[in-house]
Amino acid sequence: MLKINEIYQSVQGESTYVGLPCVFVRLSGCDLRCSYCDTEYAFYEGTKMSLEEVLQKIKNYDCNLVEVTGGEPLLQKKVYELFDLLLEQNYEVMLETGGHISVEKVPKEVIKIVDVKTPSSKMSHKNFYENLSLVDEKDELKFVIGSREDYAWAKELLAKNNTKGKVLFSPVWNELEPDKLVAWILEDKLQVRFQLQMHKVIWAAETQGV
Ligand code: SF4
Repeated sequence: MLKINEIYQSVQGESTYVGLPCVFVRLSGCDLRCSYCDTEYAFYEGTKMSLEEVLQKIKNYDCNLVEVTGGEPLLQKKVYELFDLLLEQNYEVMLETGGHISVEKVPKEVIKIVDVKTPSSKMSHKNFYENLSLVDEKDELKFVIGSREDYAWAKELLAKNNTKGKVLFSPVWNELEPDKLVAWILEDKLQVRFQLQMHKVIWAAETQGV
């Protein structure tokens, strides 16, 4: 069984897949407490569901792109069976993870969106830095930047570590003005992708199930 907080369809709000129709499977539970967390409702609430029940709900949307998210989805051991099942059924599978757990056991076909927690999240001490070398070209590393200090920290980390993953820089919503982050990236000629959380532009920031 998996403890599921919600399953719903929306458009992908982040990553290089932004804007594409996607079914989101949000697993309950997280062992981090990021300062900017927008899914605290997923820490405890949820319903136990079998893999077959989860698959049936996904099938009802008739949509080929599925993102497994949380909370922290890698905390539930059964999630690896969900990845296998979805891949067997020819879904394009994405994973959004907080970056403090190794992604080594996640099937390579799964598109991994791995957070690297910046200092202002108050969770940077939890980062599992080996993930930077475990991701490949189709995977993405996401830095959520809340300040100039976070930006400098992320820039230095990337200069010191080789990674094959695509790099995303995203401002903390309502904390760092997006134009500031864009200006810093351009000034430093950083080869990173700026992104906004598009679902927060479309709907009110606190809206669930979108
Ligand atoms: S890892 Fe994600 S769900 Fe967990 S506290 Fe941080 S932002 Fe919230």
